[in-house]
Amino acid sequence: MVYNWLNITRNWLFPASCRLCAAATHHELSICHHCYRELPWLPPGCTTCATPQPTAGNLTQCEACLRLSPDLDRVLALFEYRAPVDQWVRGLKFHGDLTLAKLLGQLLAEHAPERQNVLLVPVPLHRHRLRQRGFNQALEIARPLRRRGYRIDAHCCSRKRHTPPQSELPAKARLHNLHDAFEVRHSVKGNNIVLIDDVFTTGSTLNSLAASLKEAGAVKVEAWVIARTAGPGTR
Ligand SMILES: [Zn+2]
Ligand SMILES: [Zn+2]
Repeated sequence: MVYNWLNITRNWLFPASCRLCAAATHHELSICHHCYRELPWLPPGCTTCATPQPTAGNLTQCEACLRLSPDLDRVLALFEYRAPVDQWVRGLKFHGDLTLAKLLGQLLAEHAPERQNVLLVPVPLHRHRLRQRGFNQALEIARPLRRRGYRIDAHCCSRKRHTPPQSELPAKARLHNLHDAFEVRHSVKGNNIVLIDDVFTTGSTLNSLAASLKEAGAVKVEAWVIARTAGPGTR
């Protein structure tokens, strides 16, 4: 209570400034209402892979998902992967700006659907990359979701191999690169899991992890990500 009043007084005396336009903002996020509206929000699309698509009739899935039945049951992506969101993601990953993880995580928490009894699993980095970077951006993005009552399990799975970054590989090589890339360390039998990640590109990483989790007994696996790159394809 006292803490809340201190916060309110501090915000009134020293309003935070928007990280995009420097305008004063009383928004809990560090961006102003105007810039918030102008963010590259992803239009509604396929419920399974979030590809933006014109909705035809009652179809909620794109053609590729209907044909392939991917292991991921659902994808929520907030933004198109373009400015300023792409700069935020790179600022977090490559410059270690954890204030960006907080902002991105808060945005995700604001838009995450209500889910009962789900376990949030940040997509793990291989230990070599974790040592190099010093943090896992997916875990940092997941943290603000705790305030909505979600549990985070950052230890239930790991990357078995130090795979080249997916973005450096052509699409065909990605599947091979990820075959058996993950190990599930403890039972997830009967769990509904939500994977948390920064960017959904082809979905191959997330689908590979979803497959491993389902083999280990998970009932449903969905993914909540910050951004989706353009282009269809769930694999
Ligand atoms: Zn602004
Ligand atoms: Zn789809």
